[in-house]
Amino acid sequence: MFETLSDRLTTVFSSLRSKGRLSEADINATAREIRVALLEADVALPVVKDFIARVKERARGAEVSQALNPAQQVVKIVNEELIEILGGETRRIRFAKNPPTVIMLAGLQGSGKTTLAGKLARWLKQEGHAPLLVAADLQRPNAVQQLQVVGERAGAAVYAPEPGNGVGDPVDVARRSLDHARHAQHDVVVIDTAGRLGIDAEMMQQAADIRDVVRPDEILFVVDAMIGQDAVTTAQAFLDGVGFDGVVLTKLDGDARGGAALSVRHVTGRPIMFASTGEKLEDFNVFHPDRMAGRILD
Ligand code: GDP
Repeated sequence: MFETLSDRLTTVFSSLRSKGRLSEADINATAREIRVALLEADVALPVVKDFIARVKERARGAEVSQALNPAQQVVKIVNEELIEILGGETRRIRFAKNPPTVIMLAGLQGSGKTTLAGKLARWLKQEGHAPLLVAADLQRPNAVQQLQVVGERAGAAVYAPEPGNGVGDPVDVARRSLDHARHAQHDVVVIDTAGRLGIDAEMMQQAADIRDVVRPDEILFVVDAMIGQDAVTTAQAFLDGVGFDGVVLTKLDGDARGGAALSVRHVTGRPIMFASTGEKLEDFNVFHPDRMAGRILD
């Protein structure tokens, strides 16, 4: 992830190293090269445009500094603007004053929701919570069983529909899971919902119905970082169809160019909250914009 972008930016910055101060032509040439690097990394065009405009404006206004040479100044500006585009501050889960806190996961099939539920459960337990995972993905064969497996690995309880008993309706399962959580003293409920391979009205409606019944404290949109520009289109569709409070980027360990990571916050206005970097439960972290920018400029 980000290797190509990192390499390109390193080349751009090293060409500035010999400069005593930056002329207008230097700034324009540098901005052009950064633009190409971002577009090659599959960053969405409006994001690239804004980013370049801000870097140019700040480079022009940069004071002649004793401490930093022009190349270092540009690196500093690009670093700060990358942090900005990635969301600035780290956004943490807002836990409800009256438990249980309800976290609902939404996203396409295969984006990594069920895996994420296990990761969240493991992380929540480490943070001192008693999570309950809820199997409201009744669409995909084996999704319930898969959630039970990750729940067991994470040492977390799983609420799943009982065979018979009139269940099979994900909205009903989600509703009843909240009562169960209250009785069994779970302070956080993580609801896994069904996705489809593509954007689908029925899937959106089901997610919206679950949302209306459980009134989540946080809806997390889960998106595979490998899908590049499609991440932005998908995010927009979920924003319109269901709405969400934060984004989880998955498969950041893959060989992606990084465009999704750099675009989704800017395009949706919603913060990236967690990053998933592998199939194992421990391959998971709270998302820190500054650390991610640091990785890109490493
Ligand atoms: P869901 O359909 O949204 O519930 O997606 P799953 O949780 O079943 O994940 C789909 C596939 O992606 C599974 O094979 C997971 O093991 C894999 N997966 C999930 N998260 C990651 C990740 O961060 N990195 C990698 N490499 N694979 C992941």
